[in-house]
This record gives sequence, C-alpha cells and structure tokens, in this order.
Amino acid sequence: MTARVIDGKAFAARLRATVADYARGFEDKAGRKAALAVVLVGDDPASHVYVASKTKAILEAGMASVEFKLPADASEDKLLDRVRALNADPDVDGILVQLPVPGHMNENRVIAAIHPSKDVDGFNIINVGRLVVGQHGFVPCTPLGCLMLLKDQLGSLEGLEAVVIGRSNIVGKPMAALLNRENATVTLAHSRTRDLPGVVRRADIVVAAVGKPEIVKGSWIKSGATVIDVGINRVAGENGKTRLVGDVDFAEASEVAGAITPVPGGVGPMTIAVLLRNTIVSAYRRESFGLPKDLL
Ligand code: NAP
Repeated sequence: MTARVIDGKAFAARLRATVADYARGFEDKAGRKAALAVVLVGDDPASHVYVASKTKAILEAGMASVEFKLPADASEDKLLDRVRALNADPDVDGILVQLPVPGHMNENRVIAAIHPSKDVDGFNIINVGRLVVGQHGFVPCTPLGCLMLLKDQLGSLEGLEAVVIGRSNIVGKPMAALLNRENATVTLAHSRTRDLPGVVRRADIVVAAVGKPEIVKGSWIKSGATVIDVGINRVAGENGKTRLVGDVDFAEASEVAGAITPVPGGVGPMTIAVLLRNTIVSAYRRESFGLPKDLL
C-alpha cells in the first residue's frame, strides 16, 4: 500500500487566499486593515527569519504588519510596556512576541501580558484554559493547522484512536486537547512512555512532534492510519549538504499509512497560514462583524 501524500503547501495556499478575501471585506467595512503587531527582542538570526516570513505573509494577505524591535539587553519592563501599549491600541488585532525572549526575561510573564483577545499565538494561559474546557479562544497555530489537515482527510474524527507523540506546550498538549474536543480517543505519549511502538500501533491518527529525526518507524504504523509529522530536523545529506526530515521515517511509513504529511511541505506551511487565520478572526471578533464562517 502506498499512502496518499497530504499536500500541506496547497492547503495552506487555499487558506491564505480565503484569509485574503476576508481581509478585503474587513477593510471595506472597518475602513482600516486588520493588523498584526510583531515584537522581536534581540538578534537571534532564526527569530529574524521567522518574523520576516510572518510579516511577508501578513502583507500578502492584505493585512497590516507593525514590527517592533527591541535590543537584546532591553529590560523586561520595557517589553511589557510595549505589549501593554499594543493591548490598548484599537487598530491592532493580534500581538505576537517572537519566542524565545532573552534569558533575563520571564517568558511566562511576557505571554501573560498579551491580552487574551489579541493573543493570536494562543499561548496565554487564558486561551490554554479555554481550549481545555471547550470555550472559544485562540488555539496555537501549528496544532490547529494539523487539525485542519486531519479533518480535511478524515471528516469526523469521532471515536478514532489518536496518539500524539510529544507533550510540548506549543504542539503536543494543545494537539491532544483539540483531538479530545473532536471526540477522538487520545493518548499523549512522551519520553517516559513505555512501549511507544505498541502505543502508536493502536492509532488511527498519529501526530509526531518529538524533534528526533525519523524516530517513528513504518513498523509502528497501523495499516491505513493517517500520519501527521510535525518534526523539522536538519540532518546530513549528500555532498556535504544538509536536508530536512521529519520525526517519521517517511519512506517506511508511506508503505503502510493511509495518508501522510511530507517534510517539508506538510505541516510546516500550515503554521503561518493559521497565524493569518487567527489574526483575521481576531479582527472580525473585535469589530463584532460576525465570524468568518469558512475559517472556523
Ligand atoms: P519539544 O518542546 O522539544 O518537545 C518534544 C517532546 O517530545 C517532549 O514532550 C518529549 O518528551 C518528547 N520526546 C522526546 N524524546 C522522545 C522519545 N524518544 N520518545 C517519545 N517522546 C519523546 O519540541 P516541540 O517544540 O514540540 O517540537 C517538536 C518538533 O516539531 C521539532 O522538530 C520542531 O522543530 C517541530 N515544530 C514544527 C513546527 C512547524 O512545523 N511549524 C512548529 C513547532 C515545532 P518529555 O516531555 O518527556 O521530555
């Protein structure tokens, strides 16, 4: 059996086009563009690349992006003042503080300072709580993107056995909560899980968010399962070059699975597309325009 390859890039492009339609509609009604404010502290090159690609995507979707850069030695108070000013700014719909912040800052305090109604990353504890108890709030972009791909493949997830490998706050835990909300039967596996291959073999849905290259083998996958690979790992390739691989051994797993995301081109492109989605949803919510139905 050869699995269907889930084209996250194409799905993300469709989502971005839908967001752009809603962004035009928003501007017509509100007389301003929906806006995301991005705050970046320090000189981490990877963070600068992430922020640049988020800003580019926001602008391409017809929204406004406001960037604030603070030096690496800026005080936490300075950052918190900036976040509070953005909370109070009526023309800002979403606020994102690029993580990690420098070591002298308390990440939890910084995230807590972002008003939950503008917390488009979904990391504020209020939004985490809303997800767990089943209320509307913002959900972190990567797991929400995974859920969109799963529902596109499978329709209803009700009653399916789902195994999430990895329990980070940004991927694994919210992913498990989302699958639970969809009435899947969820197992959240981690580094202390006993007999991980045996646990994964039960799953109709496997979401791997571990950060270990190709740790999930084809022999772990139940025939016909849907496999979502969140991992992004750089490994040595041919001719001294590096290449990206996921947490799942794609060649092996695609012989057994029903459907599988590739790396790259699977989950990766969904994260920014969902950030755009969260930002436009925030804008519609804040102006009480009625929620964009195609995006819920
Ligand atoms: P993380 O914070 O490092 O968490 C890794 C999780 O994997 C932990 O819960 C850990 O368990 C678990 N784990 C580690 N070794 C394991 C093992 N041998 N068996 C079972 N579980 C194991 O990672 P993350 O931030 O969630 O990211 C995971 C991967 O997704 C990374 O490759 C990252 O680059 C990628 N990622 C991609 C996107 C995207 O596509 N846009 C976004 C975010 C992350 P313990 O809790 O017990 O330590």
